[in-house]
Amino acid sequence: MKLVVATRNRKKLLEIKEILNGMDLTLLSLDGYKNSPQVIENGKTFKENAVKKAVKLAQFTDEFCLGEDSGLCVDALNGAPGIYSARFSGREKSDIKNNLKILTLLKDLPLAKRKAHYVCAVALADKRGLVAVVEGRCNGLISFESKGAAGFGYDPVFYIPKFKKTFAQLGEKIKHKMSHRHHALKQAKLIIQKYIVKQEAS
Ligand code: IMP
Repeated sequence: MKLVVATRNRKKLLEIKEILNGMDLTLLSLDGYKNSPQVIENGKTFKENAVKKAVKLAQFTDEFCLGEDSGLCVDALNGAPGIYSARFSGREKSDIKNNLKILTLLKDLPLAKRKAHYVCAVALADKRGLVAVVEGRCNGLISFESKGAAGFGYDPVFYIPKFKKTFAQLGEKIKHKMSHRHHALKQAKLIIQKYIVKQEAS
């Protein structure tokens, strides 16, 4: 069965592919759908945005679709940047500027006050509408400086105390076993498996 993933972010797509690896699915990206509609991410929550992406793409492609919305929430910033993570430092979506902005805002706050978490919402939809929406979370701290080159987005400042390293230092292998995306997709996998069985029976 085909599953179309509603993202143009290559790194996200790779993560999703790796985590869903082994399922009886052919994963397709938006690259195969040149005129796919632009989805305005104006929902108030990660879940709302993920649902919009999945439902709109399913209507357009007539296929089973996965919509994903994710971001970073920092306790000391009352949950910001949250759903505005990609554009935290401006419209151009610069990871370097976003990280610098977080580090500057948190300045010398001690480690105990640098709590943060990533959130990932995953929605599944087909041409009839929404099938399910789930959410995963990963806790960490904001480091005092940017470190490491792996991953994307806020990974160079997302510090995992257990490993004393940022996600960007830890690399994909470890990140993909504990990330917000891993936790959301683990739930999504079960829903996809049930969906496949139901489709085959009908
Ligand atoms: P979206 O494409 O609108 O969902 O934007 C998500 C934004 O959240 C990305 O541009 C990153 O800044 C941030 N983000 C989400 N997931 C991750 C992750 O796994 N690592 C680092 N940053 C992430």
